Amino acid sequence: MFNLILFGPPGSGKGTQSEKLIAKYGLKHLSTGDIFRSEISNQTELGLKAKSYMDAGQLVPDAVTIGMVDKVINANKGVNGFLFDGFPRTKAQAEALDELLKGHGTEINVVLALDVPENELIQRMIGRAKTSGRSDDADPEVQQKRIAVYRNETLAVADHYRTFNKVVQLNGLGSIDDIFASLCQEIDSRK
Ligand code: AMP
Repeated sequence: MFNLILFGPPGSGKGTQSEKLIAKYGLKHLSTGDIFRSEISNQTELGLKAKSYMDAGQLVPDAVTIGMVDKVINANKGVNGFLFDGFPRTKAQAEALDELLKGHGTEINVVLALDVPENELIQRMIGRAKTSGRSDDADPEVQQKRIAVYRNETLAVADHYRTFNKVVQLNGLGSIDDIFASLCQEIDSRK
């Protein structure tokens, strides 16, 4: 298996690049944000639990998120590998993911981290809100909160994987195709 984490702040292009990467490499896309949004639109118990946190720009509690990821991994045993997008977002989630993967005899191969300056992130969220209808992209207070959560809680995930030499920082500014090409180069050199 080849498992990768596409890492970066909200609005850094993880979703866009994930779509292209899963098409090229046949990986299973695991976006916790997408799963939560689908649970919300299906009005499930999990969706109800997640919604208030998402609307406020806060993280859904680790136990809920990790339990959900565990189920998805167990339900996809035969895949080539996973592309984790928007997960892990805390050090506890990263440690839990390492344990889950270990239980399946595999591990994270690489963390590709997209660097995008904060003012650009806000512009991208505003642009995305127009077509996605995502209220967490449209509200300036929630945008700021999500960036603060990234700084205070999620950057620790990169630190965690840096201790295992698994992190590659990439420029997240430029055309979608150029960024995709640099991501592919890193993957191809490791596969
Ligand atoms: P995203 O689509 O990745 O930007 O996520 C949207 C929102 O879903 C986040 O602001 C969080 O409220 C929630 N969320 C997504 N992934 C996670 C995660 N790994 N841990 C906790 N909350 C998450």
